[in-house]
Amino acid sequence: RDACLTLQGNAGPVEVLRDITLSVAGGETLGLVGPSGSGKSSLLMLMGGLERATGGQVTALGRDLTALDEDALARFRLGNMGVVFQSFHLIPTMTAIENVATPLELAGHADAFAQAEAQLRRVGLGQRLEHYPSQMSGGEQQRVALARAVAPRPAILLADEPTGNLDGVNGQAIMDLLFGLREEHGATLILVTHAPELAARCDRVLRLADGRIAGEDLRSAAE
Ligand code: ATP
Ligand code: MG
Repeated sequence: RDACLTLQGNAGPVEVLRDITLSVAGGETLGLVGPSGSGKSSLLMLMGGLERATGGQVTALGRDLTALDEDALARFRLGNMGVVFQSFHLIPTMTAIENVATPLELAGHADAFAQAEAQLRRVGLGQRLEHYPSQMSGGEQQRVALARAVAPRPAILLADEPTGNLDGVNGQAIMDLLFGLREEHGATLILVTHAPELAARCDRVLRLADGRIAGEDLRSAAE
């Protein structure tokens, strides 16, 4: 069934996504592009079970996410999905290493802090392990969010403009980290991006406009 999403705005319900039919293959890298307000983040949140569809069905790894209760959905996400939010959503009362290690601990990894440190070093933050989010730049926070999402080696990684706040060198390192997940264990990547060099590395690119899929495979037309 087509998925749709209606959110409650101040002036009443806003139909944010309509008639979305989309299937992503295991191991595929899908790019999502489109103008501001077209629904990219909303679609990503829907796919990650972080927003509830108001109609239709969302299935991931054979599970119908629309049929799971909040607890089951949270467990499913912890075990299978990593998410990099557009505004990072780091826990402000935790240091960088605690932000990365906590989901690893929750998922039952024994060496959570060692793994967290290794991931933070990979994104160039070996000198920022004990910093709080408020003590880091936007690009540094973005890299912590990315380290947190990839550390548990999720089967599905959803990332909202993962290179949005980064310079060339760090952006390249992040892209290598993302695509490394795919090479290491065939992770499925779904990436919202305005960066042409990131879209160009996706297997398929969907363009959203006004809450609908307006085009497919427009790699070279990415913004
Ligand atoms: P950007 O490139 O600026 O991040 P986007 O493509 O990610 O944009 P969304 O954040 O998905 O866009 O928003 C799509 C539409 O849904 C926008 O018109 C936005 O105003 C609306 N919207 C998003 N969240 C809500 C909400 N909680 N309540 C009401 N409307 C919302
Ligand atoms: Mg967005």
